Amino acid sequence: MSDSPTDCIFCKIVSGELGTELVAESDQAVAFNDIAPHAPTHVLIVPRRHIQSLADLTESDAELLGEMIGLANKVARERGIDASGYRLVTNVGRDGGQEVPHLHWHLLGGRALKFRP
Ligand code: AMP
Repeated sequence: MSDSPTDCIFCKIVSGELGTELVAESDQAVAFNDIAPHAPTHVLIVPRRHIQSLADLTESDAELLGEMIGLANKVARERGIDASGYRLVTNVGRDGGQEVPHLHWHLLGGRALKFRP
C-alpha cells in the first residue's frame, strides 16, 4: 500500500501534525522516540511515504531501505550504543505483532536485550 490514509498516526507524525520531535531525519525517512519505550533507547525509524509493512516493499524500495538502516545506525552512534550493541526490529502483520500499519523499524538499545524483547 502506498496511499496515505488520513487516520495513520505515523503519517500525522511525518507531516508534523502531532508536533512529535524528530531525533533524526533524511530525505525519505524520519526517526522519533517511541511513546512507550522498552529500552533506554527506543527509537522508531519510519518512511515519510505511507507503506504498510516490510511485506509491501519491492526492489524499487532498495534505496529507501538502505536509507532507513543508515538512519538507524546514525541514531545508534549518536546515542552511544553503537559499541555496546543494539537491535533493529520490524513487525509485520497480525502475528508479527504489528500495531501501527505504517512500516517502521524499532531501534532498541542501552540495555542487554533478551531474544524476546
Ligand atoms: P508495532 O507494534 O511494531 O506496530 O509498534 C508500534 C509502536 O508505535 C509501539 O511501540 C508504540 O509504542 C509506538 N507508538 C504508537 N503511537 C506513537 C506515537 N504517537 N509516538 C511515538 N510512538 C508511538
